[in-house]
Amino acid sequence: MNSIKQINGTITNVRDLSPTARLYTIKPKEPLDFIAGAFVNMFVEHDGKTIRKAFSISSSDREQAQFTFSIRLSPGGELTPLLWNEDFTNKTVKLMGPLGTNTADKMTSKKIFLFGFGVGAGVVKSLADNIATRPNIESLVIMTGNRNIEEILHKDYFDTLAKENEHVSVTYVVSDKEQTKYPSGYIQNHLSKYNFSNSDIYVCGQTVACTALENTVKATNPQNCKFFIEDFH
Ligand SMILES: Cc1cc2nc3c(=O)[nH]c(=O)nc-3n(C[C@H](O)[C@H](O)[C@H](O)COP(=O)(O)OP(=O)(O)OC[C@H]3O[C@@H](n4cnc5c(N)ncnc54)[C@H](O)[C@@H]3O)c2cc1C
Repeated sequence: MNSIKQINGTITNVRDLSPTARLYTIKPKEPLDFIAGAFVNMFVEHDGKTIRKAFSISSSDREQAQFTFSIRLSPGGELTPLLWNEDFTNKTVKLMGPLGTNTADKMTSKKIFLFGFGVGAGVVKSLADNIATRPNIESLVIMTGNRNIEEILHKDYFDTLAKENEHVSVTYVVSDKEQTKYPSGYIQNHLSKYNFSNSDIYVCGQTVACTALENTVKATNPQNCKFFIEDFH
């Protein structure tokens, strides 16, 4: 990982991704030199208090002058209701990063799985962008888990990536059982067709979801398989 910087950044744009998620574009004072998969601590001043939260970068690491966070509202939370209730456009925040070890440079297999639960689809997008066009990649399987159809994040991006790269596949799993358009339940209910041996497996989301998926894959007894778990504890 590149050296950790502590710098200011400006929130230059905020837009809705879904009823409960937003995309925040941030222009750091100087490039963070992040690698896809990294996260950043953001410090927001409020009522004389500094609130610090970690967010994964959801944009391409080919663009360093600005980057995005995909953020989900946690009702009752400390920071995200504040972000939703006030217009943060043009506000300055402190940033510490890049942080994290689950970065794209560590995922070197020819077969890579990227699993994102909920807003974890954001960092999966950044990783997919880095990995999809590697000359050695034979298979990139992307699966996102979403609570309902409206909450599927970055769908246009993933659909285009899969259309333009024959070795890339994308599946949206939706836990809302009322819908029949997409595979229903959780990501780990739809893994039986895959062979996980000789692969890198990245999983991002709430701890309980990451653990359930990891256990499902391990139960297939894969050989030479490396896990990268980014849990939003
Ligand atoms: C490495 C990393 C990367 C992350 N990346 C992202 C990302 O890309 N996007 C993203 O949206 N989030 C990400 N997160 C999570 C993020 O840091 C915040 O935790 C999240 O946004 C919620 O922040 P908050 O201040 O609104 O809520 P918090 O105050 O942290 O609360 C979270 C939830 O817990 C509940 N809660 C709080 N206190 C209690 C309590 N005492 N008892 C019961 N429930 C309680 C709240 O009601 C709320 O629903 C990441 C976390 C980590 C560690």
